[in-house]
Amino acid sequence: MTAGRTHKTDKTHKTHCPYCALQCGMEIGTGREIRITPRTDVPANASGALCQKGWTAAELLTNGSRLTTPLLHGEPVAWEAALDHVAARLSEIRAEHGPDAVAVFGGGGLTNEKAYTLGKFARVALGTSQIDYNGRFCMSSAAAASIRAFGMDRGLPFPVTDLAGADVVLLAGANVAETMPPFVRHLEGPRAIVVDPRRTPTARRAWLHLQPAPGTDLALALGLLHLVVAEGLVDEAYVAGRTSGFEEVRTSLASWWPERVERITGVPVYRMRQAVRALAAAGRAYVLTGRGVEQHAKGTDTVTAFVNLALALGLPGRHGSGYGCLTGQGNGQGGREHGQKADQLPGYRRIDDPAARAHVAGVWGVAPESLPGPGRSAYELLDALGTPGGPRALLVFGSNPLVSAPASERVAGRLAGLDLLVVCDVVLSETAARADVVFPVTQWAEETGTMTNLEGRVLLRRRAVEPPDGVRSDLEVIAELAARLGHRFPSRPREVFDELRRASAGGAADYSGITYERVEAGPGVFWPCPEPGHPGTPRPFLDRFATPDGRARFVPVGHRPPAEEPDEDYPLHLTTGRVLAHYQSGAQTRRIAPLVRAAPEPFVELHPDLAERLGIRPGDVVRVSSRRGEDRAPARISDAVRRDTVFMPFHWEGVNRLTNPALDPMSRMPEFKVCAVRVERDS
Ligand code: SF4
Repeated sequence: MTAGRTHKTDKTHKTHCPYCALQCGMEIGTGREIRITPRTDVPANASGALCQKGWTAAELLTNGSRLTTPLLHGEPVAWEAALDHVAARLSEIRAEHGPDAVAVFGGGGLTNEKAYTLGKFARVALGTSQIDYNGRFCMSSAAAASIRAFGMDRGLPFPVTDLAGADVVLLAGANVAETMPPFVRHLEGPRAIVVDPRRTPTARRAWLHLQPAPGTDLALALGLLHLVVAEGLVDEAYVAGRTSGFEEVRTSLASWWPERVERITGVPVYRMRQAVRALAAAGRAYVLTGRGVEQHAKGTDTVTAFVNLALALGLPGRHGSGYGCLTGQGNGQGGREHGQKADQLPGYRRIDDPAARAHVAGVWGVAPESLPGPGRSAYELLDALGTPGGPRALLVFGSNPLVSAPASERVAGRLAGLDLLVVCDVVLSETAARADVVFPVTQWAEETGTMTNLEGRVLLRRRAVEPPDGVRSDLEVIAELAARLGHRFPSRPREVFDELRRASAGGAADYSGITYERVEAGPGVFWPCPEPGHPGTPRPFLDRFATPDGRARFVPVGHRPPAEEPDEDYPLHLTTGRVLAHYQSGAQTRRIAPLVRAAPEPFVELHPDLAERLGIRPGDVVRVSSRRGEDRAPARISDAVRRDTVFMPFHWEGVNRLTNPALDPMSRMPEFKVCAVRVERDS
């Protein structure tokens, strides 16, 4: 069931990192041992930098915990038997309960080809509307806000290298020094203003750190914009020429005077003034948002408030300035474009748009009316599993929801109530360990496929090493299941990509002019790229935004408190985030020895005053409880965190037992970033 490999021929292969959305370029040398070296021809890390996760990525390929045999109820079984069993059970469940009784859960790390095929498999082979993916937990609030403001969601609508030429960059809720360290090289020139409730490594390097209470970033953004207006710093010519809706926003700001915002956020007025004056004085400036402002029950409005700030300062759609959302997962951008979202068809089309349905149905060779409508969002889907009227079977690809979903104990109960749980994974993740059937699949350097990085640049990851005996690609698994359900699906990545290009043609994320040859020949191609000779679109908003009138839209938004506020029983805020050595649910990185040595276990970070009040010393095991569950971890005492807040990293099973599944009404993203907890020394 496990694999360890060496390679006899000395060769190097150009590829990209298996982890985050920066998709740093690297070369894999496959001699007796697999070696990783950074590339300098990829703009994201042209400095030759990789983070600790990238440097150690080769260990993923030889890791002893690798799965190489399908498992049926925990026992090794032949591929054909496992595929036959799953197809038969899916047919039975569909016959008995209808097509929506089968659900699919994808991931933001899957290649474009896999994300596309998964969406097609759900709608065509299974006929289910019940498909969503873990990217709903990561990027959906910024996506919703960007579509609302700009008519299009492309994380960074400019090359990442543009940032180096800026005078000032405001980073709201993004700890890039830990999540994607090579990105920091692009920020060495500009002054950085960091908005974060913790004094993170990114905040420590910043020129200015604004440290709001968790769940109050929206109020802070409103206060900053109030000051821009009050101090006459609005770029009136830009607002008049390139935007709509500002007067309504200007009126709505009247009640967000700075002293009130200081009372709500804890950020002193003079610091807010410093921030807006620096931004307004800059010739070139950027506003960037990350998960910290998104993962709230009001995440879409919070991002919108920062977009409004950027628009009032005249930044988006200008060469050398702009607004951008920092995507997290490796293919977070591409993963949200090709149809594994509940409400979406390939090319970033809406599933409820008749023209989009007709186009995609034509490519798929089915009748438009046979395509299901929108399904449940990720958490709502997980919460419906096994309930009356909810799905009875779940197929999981590239995700570990038992660790990454909020209220994870509740999710565990829902998974236990299923008639069939199938997981495709590389290792026995926490979710795979509970599955009825596990399919062992190829990963990263063992397979070819495209990824779309945080800039919207489409990249090719070529197969560099032979996969271990016994594993198949997700595309092969899907094609085999589809065949057993009466459908012929391609399983070769290039063939799938060519179909994806046709399906995306005419959509917002138009890939029709992108080919493997073009992507391989240079440092990738930016979408939209609507025809073969088209150069791609690095900066899509320079002339007009993607709205019907070409103007960016201001949208008035108001602050409201978090869904759950501290009270007598649960008197502290909990906020969650990442550490340098680990990635997402940790299914990969918690198996890499140097990363485990660097960060072996979760922790609870507390302010020294809070620790003293609770009688907690460094290393004491601390019990953290919320209304949904409890978790234990050693204490780490640090004044990087506020006195009213504790921080826990989310890479280990446990912390999401605590988090609140309150959803943003527009993006349906859960409120991972703030909930109320009680903290005690565990005696
Ligand atoms: Fe990989 Fe991201 Fe680290 Fe680059 S920053 S090496 S892409 S994990």
